[in-house]
Amino acid sequence: MEQTHLIYAALLLLSGTASLAVILITWNRRYAPGAKALITMMAGTTIWAMTYAVHWIYPDTPAPFFWLDATYLGVVIAPTAFLVFAVQFNQFDRWLNKHTFWILSLIPFLTLVILWTDPYHQLFFAGKRLPTATDIFDGGPWFWVNMIYSYAMIIAGYIIMYLGYFRQIGIYRKQRLLIIIGSIVAPIANLVSLFNLNPLPGLDLTPFSFTILGTFYSFGLLRLSMFDIVPVAKEIVIDTMQQGMLIFDPDERLVELNENALTTLGLPRSSLIGKPAVDVFRGNADMLRAWQNRETLDQPIQVHMPDGRIQMLNMDRLMKNGSRLQGWLIICSDVTSLVETETRLQQANHQLEERLQQIEALQAVLKEQAIRDPLTGLLNRRFLEETLIKEEARAERKQYEMMILMLDIDSFKDLNDTHGHQAGDEVLKQLGDLLLRSLRKDDFVVRMGGEEFLVLMSDIKVQEGLDRAEKIRTLVEQYEFTNGSHIHHITISIGAASYPSSSRELEMIIRLADIALYRAKAAGKNRVSADAKVVA
Ligand code: GH3
Ligand code: MG
Ligand code: MG
Repeated sequence: MEQTHLIYAALLLLSGTASLAVILITWNRRYAPGAKALITMMAGTTIWAMTYAVHWIYPDTPAPFFWLDATYLGVVIAPTAFLVFAVQFNQFDRWLNKHTFWILSLIPFLTLVILWTDPYHQLFFAGKRLPTATDIFDGGPWFWVNMIYSYAMIIAGYIIMYLGYFRQIGIYRKQRLLIIIGSIVAPIANLVSLFNLNPLPGLDLTPFSFTILGTFYSFGLLRLSMFDIVPVAKEIVIDTMQQGMLIFDPDERLVELNENALTTLGLPRSSLIGKPAVDVFRGNADMLRAWQNRETLDQPIQVHMPDGRIQMLNMDRLMKNGSRLQGWLIICSDVTSLVETETRLQQANHQLEERLQQIEALQAVLKEQAIRDPLTGLLNRRFLEETLIKEEARAERKQYEMMILMLDIDSFKDLNDTHGHQAGDEVLKQLGDLLLRSLRKDDFVVRMGGEEFLVLMSDIKVQEGLDRAEKIRTLVEQYEFTNGSHIHHITISIGAASYPSSSRELEMIIRLADIALYRAKAAGKNRVSADAKVVA
């Protein structure tokens, strides 16, 4: 055995080991896309290198060409596995299914059968293999079928790897670049051997290159996380997302849409791609208007679908390098339930506001009722108590005089007895009105109870107050109180006391006015009587 043969064998063993290393590293990540195909491919290169290594040590054991023929197991596996790896790793899986996979495997399988049965038909070697041959670079028709097929697989794999490279960014790009560079050595070594450019004639250089291949792939696996982090294909994202998505080109023709766009916008499934936007949106006037006016460019808008659902539309210009219009992106999401909830909330809020207003109004009424006498609508005793304190302070502050009149209907009992209680009520009501009309804006009339009234006149001179009292008395005397067809005449007696001449305390003044009233009654009723201290 020659020394050089041992060196070949050693180098080939190294190649095989490098390939085996890739298999071992990939094993733990074997469920990642493309990982199994890579394992298969590296199994191919391992077999190729190892069997070729054994060939250089035992060329004729167990039979001549046995190990050389054995290399073909690896030779046929590697290129096809590379293509499958490229497809799966770059997630172009829709190109690859069970059928295409078996079709791809057919030629490699036939190659093995034809190669191993060559003595019977010579389709592979065509008798061109010399007894001393250590490589296989010429042969019959099937030799070339396999050669062309293998290169077709490799070239297709490269194209896909390039496509993947351009589709990706960042570390995913680096991974693909590494694969492209690391894999190119093997076909180059093969071509060099094929075209007899080999400095070492009779040696197939291809398996030696697997050392480089293995090193690059190992680096990719360990340093660039080749199967550890797997990008999610954009198609999957687009098809899975809840929103509908449509893309139009600058000429406003539909170039892309996802499954949800069909359902959310109620678009027909028929071939929409390539259609102008106006045709795509023809079925929906709102959508069409939104599109034509580019209404949603500034802010999302709501569009009502013919089926009653509501879509939130979002439109964006797709710009390249920030200036060149590439197209239009429309994202639409179903916001029907959101809008419904919002509407219900607004309604509830509105109702609440209305209730609140009602309550406030009611409260005002109640407050008013609390200080008013229900029969006459005049202020009541409660109001008086609250007001006296304020009035006293005001009079003192502003240094003005006040007058309090106590009024009592004369012989009211008789009227009740003669004409009934209802007639009495009627008279009380009309008297209340009459008193209000005959007083100034700032004066109070309070019904003290029964047929007794209190009038408080602020900022009034004593004489003027007494004059007014007299005027009220005559007014009442002359007034015709009506009850149905009946006309009643009444008279009143008035007791007057003043601030500050009668007293400085309003409570006291009221009592003094009361006493004066009693005197008016005693003196024969229908008259005004002033407290003794009232000085006109
Ligand atoms: P005098 O001239 O002394 O005041 O005689 P009078 O009958 O007016 O006085 P008295 O205090 O004896 O009677 C008051 C009457 O007023 C008794 C009651 O029947 C009547 N009266 C009190 N409150 C009401 C009321 O709300 N409605 C009616 N209809 N009558 C009332
Ligand atoms: Mg009376
Ligand atoms: Mg009375």
